[in-house]
Amino acid sequence: MEFSSRVCETPGCNQVAKLQCPTCVKLSIQGSYFCSQDCFKSNWKSHKVLHKIAQGSGTSDKNGYDPWPYHKFTGNLRPWPQTPRREVPVHIGLPDYAIHKHGIPLSEQDYKRSGLITVLNDDEKEGLRVACKLGREVLDEAARVIDVGVTTDEIDRIVHEACVERECYPSPLNYYEFPRSCCTSVNEVICHGIPDLRPLANGDICNVDVTVFHRGYHGDLNETFLLGEVSEHAKKLVQVTWECLDKAIKIVKPGEKYREIGNVIQRHAQAHGYSVVRSYCGHGIHRLFHTAPSIPHYAKNKAVGVMKPGHSFTIEPMISQGSWRDELWPDKWTAVTIDGLLSAQFEHTLLVTDTGCEILTARNPPTPYFLDQNV
Ligand SMILES: [Zn+2]
Ligand SMILES: [Zn+2]
Repeated sequence: MEFSSRVCETPGCNQVAKLQCPTCVKLSIQGSYFCSQDCFKSNWKSHKVLHKIAQGSGTSDKNGYDPWPYHKFTGNLRPWPQTPRREVPVHIGLPDYAIHKHGIPLSEQDYKRSGLITVLNDDEKEGLRVACKLGREVLDEAARVIDVGVTTDEIDRIVHEACVERECYPSPLNYYEFPRSCCTSVNEVICHGIPDLRPLANGDICNVDVTVFHRGYHGDLNETFLLGEVSEHAKKLVQVTWECLDKAIKIVKPGEKYREIGNVIQRHAQAHGYSVVRSYCGHGIHRLFHTAPSIPHYAKNKAVGVMKPGHSFTIEPMISQGSWRDELWPDKWTAVTIDGLLSAQFEHTLLVTDTGCEILTARNPPTPYFLDQNV
């Protein structure tokens, strides 16, 4: 870990980095290595913002529960205890991994070898539309309850029950043994946060990522919510992250290259001094939860393929205040920023049409919840 993080902070510069920002050392901000004085100087304007943010941040949320006493956390968030696993009634159709001993999606693994992007027929499009609409309803239920003082476990319970009421299996449950029915990613958590008994705090940002499996199709979406009085820094990050998704969706049409999406997203993020997470990508989705194409959100990526009518996939940019680098908690799921600074995300499932795309997980009205909260 020590060594893997010693690569230059400048986006796209993968040079070995030995110079560490002296102010970051003083403020115990992790990472912040640069390959040269020139790289450091050219980054200074956006880099110095980290010092401000770090000076304004609070203390860790210690709760007496300490499953990994030797782990060095990058930020203030800590794991809290989890409740027992939730069950799905027998009448609900299950994806293959739901009953696999290790949660392995064998259908995805079979298909992966082909690398092909599925073109959906009319029946398949309709199946996907219905799953996505139900996924949206489930996220709307979560939005209704999310608040300061509410635990992420409670959000997981609401999501789980909203799925079951709609004859949906909560897709994350048991996927590669993920233990819960949705992901809740707070503050420095980039994605795949595990709902637990931590109450959301005033000033937190929290992403809720919902995927439902209904009659053979998965629908996937997420939004970042603002809890109570959130700093202007955090609001700005959430706003720009939403804009990144919005701008990316606008280029989706037949003939467009999948690799262009990352160029649009990084251009906008970088213009605001933010970085784009590189370890997690958008993905094809239909009968399979994660399949071809794989869609990086960063610029100059090597994604293969061209959009065609009938392709269905997600775009889900994760945008960070500081470094784009991530690391995992010892639970092997929770992905956090290596400097402990905030990261935000938004996601939609899209279907390419003859002239553009349908946003299958769109909200009515088509704006995200944080804009309602932000007035
Ligand atoms: Zn998702
Ligand atoms: Zn996704």
